[in-house]
Amino acid sequence: MDLAGFKRAIEGLKIEENPVLVKQKSRDFYWYSPVLKRQLENVTADLVVNPQSEEDVVRICAAAFVHGVPLTPRGAGTGNYGQAMPLSGGAIVNLADMVKLKSIAGGTVVAEAGAILEQVDNATRAAIGEEMRIHPSTYRTASIGGFIGGGSGGVGSVRWGGLRNLGNVLRIRLVTCEAVPRILDLTGEDLHKAIHAYGTNGIITEVEIPTTGAYDWVDVIVAFDSVMDAVHFSETVGHADGMLVKEVAPIAAPVPFDYFPRHKKFYRREQSIVVLMAAPFAVDPLAILAARAKGEIAYRSDKASAEESKGLPPAYELGWNHTTLRALRVDPSITYLQTQYADAAALEQMMKRFGDEVPMHCEVIRFNGRPALAGLPLLRFTSEERLEEIIRIHEDNGVKVFNPHRYTLEEGGMKQTDRIQLDFKKEADPKGLLNPGKMIAWDDPSFDFEARRSYIFPGIREVA
Ligand code: FAD
Repeated sequence: MDLAGFKRAIEGLKIEENPVLVKQKSRDFYWYSPVLKRQLENVTADLVVNPQSEEDVVRICAAAFVHGVPLTPRGAGTGNYGQAMPLSGGAIVNLADMVKLKSIAGGTVVAEAGAILEQVDNATRAAIGEEMRIHPSTYRTASIGGFIGGGSGGVGSVRWGGLRNLGNVLRIRLVTCEAVPRILDLTGEDLHKAIHAYGTNGIITEVEIPTTGAYDWVDVIVAFDSVMDAVHFSETVGHADGMLVKEVAPIAAPVPFDYFPRHKKFYRREQSIVVLMAAPFAVDPLAILAARAKGEIAYRSDKASAEESKGLPPAYELGWNHTTLRALRVDPSITYLQTQYADAAALEQMMKRFGDEVPMHCEVIRFNGRPALAGLPLLRFTSEERLEEIIRIHEDNGVKVFNPHRYTLEEGGMKQTDRIQLDFKKEADPKGLLNPGKMIAWDDPSFDFEARRSYIFPGIREVA
């Protein structure tokens, strides 16, 4: 890598070289995983470049190609698989200054990649009374480009499914890393090339997504004495045709009491809860379903007094990876898994098997048209060997595990080569400079995913 040549070629662009600041921007939430923390603790970029426009991104990509400099795109750095960490050094391309909203009309919004999700929603609400269909629980900090590059689904997925479902992303505009970088507008089948590709095959500059009717969502917590009653209630709500909800998350006792300190006054330690966001008119019908399921409404934001609601985070910040974050704040030895259960019986089997070593947390998401239980169970970490064993037992029992303790696309995903993303990388990043080490199929086409060994990117550059 000829860093000096690269710097000369991008002269005039906003660059940061202070090693402390560069290291800060070389990090995401990788420390969620004790395994990634050990593996990635010492990786850092050489510099950060902050493009202000698509033309700047084109210049950066052209210069990187000529001078052999790895580029790792960064939105807000809230990914938690080390996705945004520059394994081979080089430059972080920080999209944080590219935040313009280009258009809001006809049920869609076009935003520059660095736009923060909450700000996108604020703007669409003000302009057309609509909001995004899906957002991660990092809504208040994450960027729209980072969500599409590194996320999968989130709040709203109970109704709309995930980012990969056709219709949830309409257009992705990206810049390739070639001698003469191309600017491509991907639509239709081509969208899959860049959704959840960790920026390995293009730098997204702009996205277009659909919006949907905005509501003043009511935060609701329903408490249950039996954890399986909480799970069955969650499924019932997911299936209830007339119920407009944006979030449904069952969480097993004692997690809500031990790790949600501001909410614990609403329920007892032995109670499991379901966290929901419901349209205002859906809360009363929801209360009927809760009563039928032996649940008690422990909290509803529309009826709570100002005193009761004071200082409470929004309900979505109890779900998704925020459940893990809250547990980690109390007990730093906690980590988590990402799983998919065939049904509630499969989930119950794992709960019985692991008890309080793997406390249950699920999100109800729409999968192939039907609500399904996606797990983000907590895990009381003791050793990497035990972690691997727990994963293996899940898989041996037919539970899918999307391993959040790996930094590669494949190991954190379907454990197989994604031909479409690989083929696109060959054409869009022929020198393999975009986020090196994150796509096994590019680095080691013969890697055996069945062998259950962890892939270690040989190009990791550690800096003391
Ligand atoms: P970054 O972390 O900066 O980047 C993510 C990935 O995308 C990286 O590989 C990066 O290289 C790439 N990338 C970033 N910008 C671009 C670009 N312009 N072009 C190409 N590639 C790019 N994820 C979910 O899906 N759902 C959730 O509900 C959710 N909840 C979370 C809760 C917590 C507490 C935490 C820590 C994480 C959570 N995440 C969740 C993961 C993450 O917050 C989201 O996926 C988020 O949308 C990432 O956005 P970001 O701007 O922080 O991206």
